[in-house]
Amino acid sequence: MSVVSSAQHTHIPNPHNHIAVIGGGPTGSFFSLFALRMAKMIGREVEITIYEPKDFSKDGPGGCNRCGGIISELLVQTLAVEGINLPNSVVRKGINSYKLHTDYGSVFISTPSLERTIATVYRGGGPRGIIGHDKESFDNFLLSLALEEGAVHRPVRIDSVERKNGKMVLFSRNSQVTEADLVVGAFGVNSTAGKMFTSLGFGYTEPPTVNAAIAELHMPEKVIAELFGNSIHLFLLPDRGIKFAALIPKGSYVTLCILGRKVDSHTVGTFLQRPVVRTVLPETLGYDVVCNCLPKMNIGAPKKPFTDSIVMGGDAGSTRLFKDGLGAAYIMGKAIAKTVIFEGTSWKDFQRCYYPIYRGIKQDNLFGRILYTVIDQYRSSKILTRAMLKTVESEQNRGADDRLLSTILWDMFTGNERYRNVFLKSLKPKMHLDMWEGVFSSLGRR
Ligand SMILES: Cc1cc2nc3c(=O)[nH]c(=O)nc-3n(C[C@H](O)[C@H](O)[C@H](O)COP(=O)(O)OP(=O)(O)OC[C@H]3O[C@@H](n4cnc5c(N)ncnc54)[C@H](O)[C@@H]3O)c2cc1C
Repeated sequence: MSVVSSAQHTHIPNPHNHIAVIGGGPTGSFFSLFALRMAKMIGREVEITIYEPKDFSKDGPGGCNRCGGIISELLVQTLAVEGINLPNSVVRKGINSYKLHTDYGSVFISTPSLERTIATVYRGGGPRGIIGHDKESFDNFLLSLALEEGAVHRPVRIDSVERKNGKMVLFSRNSQVTEADLVVGAFGVNSTAGKMFTSLGFGYTEPPTVNAAIAELHMPEKVIAELFGNSIHLFLLPDRGIKFAALIPKGSYVTLCILGRKVDSHTVGTFLQRPVVRTVLPETLGYDVVCNCLPKMNIGAPKKPFTDSIVMGGDAGSTRLFKDGLGAAYIMGKAIAKTVIFEGTSWKDFQRCYYPIYRGIKQDNLFGRILYTVIDQYRSSKILTRAMLKTVESEQNRGADDRLLSTILWDMFTGNERYRNVFLKSLKPKMHLDMWEGVFSSLGRR
């Protein structure tokens, strides 16, 4: 499916019912799709224009919204309920397990329920030079759905926004592009768009971010199938500054994602040389690093994500800490759509209907921060890391409903569960008893 865009400056929307969406990533597309569906349900006419300069069918950085491309089980299922089934052309691999690697050993964690599957996708056309055109990007797919529902796409980068006579006026390269009744900010954190809204003075500030690293490793598909199967390889290493890293198989490429607070241009090279990483990848020169980048990652939420006729969602607002940003884009895109179509576009409407969802994600991340602090303790201690491996290893030989730590780790890293629920599970006495058993057993082995 290819995205059909209207040419620059050819479409003049009705200024009385016009919504301008800045950014056609998942948040912008989910918002537009659901707003148009809901408007049709109640017989209301709205015009939605998505301003998005990227062509998501292009390979390499030009078409890519840089990310690991893991679609959580929860999101795959939620989308299916919405009637959005990810086609085979979008899914690069179905995942049913994780292999957890540490400096002291590795352990396999299978999905708690074999029916559910995680999907891996590319956000753009794929790594630079990818061969074959039988595949489609996730962002292109979502944008196409929004366009099929009636949204218009204009390949324009918006570089300033003003409020004039009760309307929002959008500009690109010093020319006025449109007037709108509402602006939806869905521009993520990897552009300077946030500054346009900070300068409007209603209290919006750009979310705090950290650098992450992504690299695409190219190797024969057969080798990937043999080495990775249907597993994502997750690394919890004692390095300060790196929370975790993952190798995500996708056809004849493996996406390496490194998340943390101290990631720079040397991180990928150093990581690939680590002995534990080399045990997973093919022997010397068995792969090429064909693409790499250092995208920003949202790690906090601005206090004021909306005012009259302006609202921010997805990464430009709040997202889930270190996981399932695409799930958060869905939740927020839909919540904004509901507010706008059924309530209105004033500060009060957003405060009443959108803010509870926004705040819910923010509050859930507080539990996430506690859990990551605990995981930091585990990965920096040899005894605790070994105890964790031992516990998961013995759990994997038990029934699916007797795998508490495995489920906690699965839910933490797949984005399948809210952090609050993972936190509550982690308080269960059984988990602590199992861990102590693991500690004693690894001390005994020493
Ligand atoms: C390293 C890394 C790995 C990740 N891995 C995963 C993962 O595996 N699974 C997951 O669920 N989440 C993951 N995430 C999070 C996920 O990528 C984001 O949460 C998600 O992309 C947010 O969607 P969005 O639409 O809000 O923003 P984006 O995806 O960033 O989209 C914003 C869009 O706005 C456009 N834009 C920007 N400025 C302008 C402008 N001025 N005018 C017009 N358009 C503009 C951009 O071109 C872009 O297309 C990861 C993030 C990082 C950094």
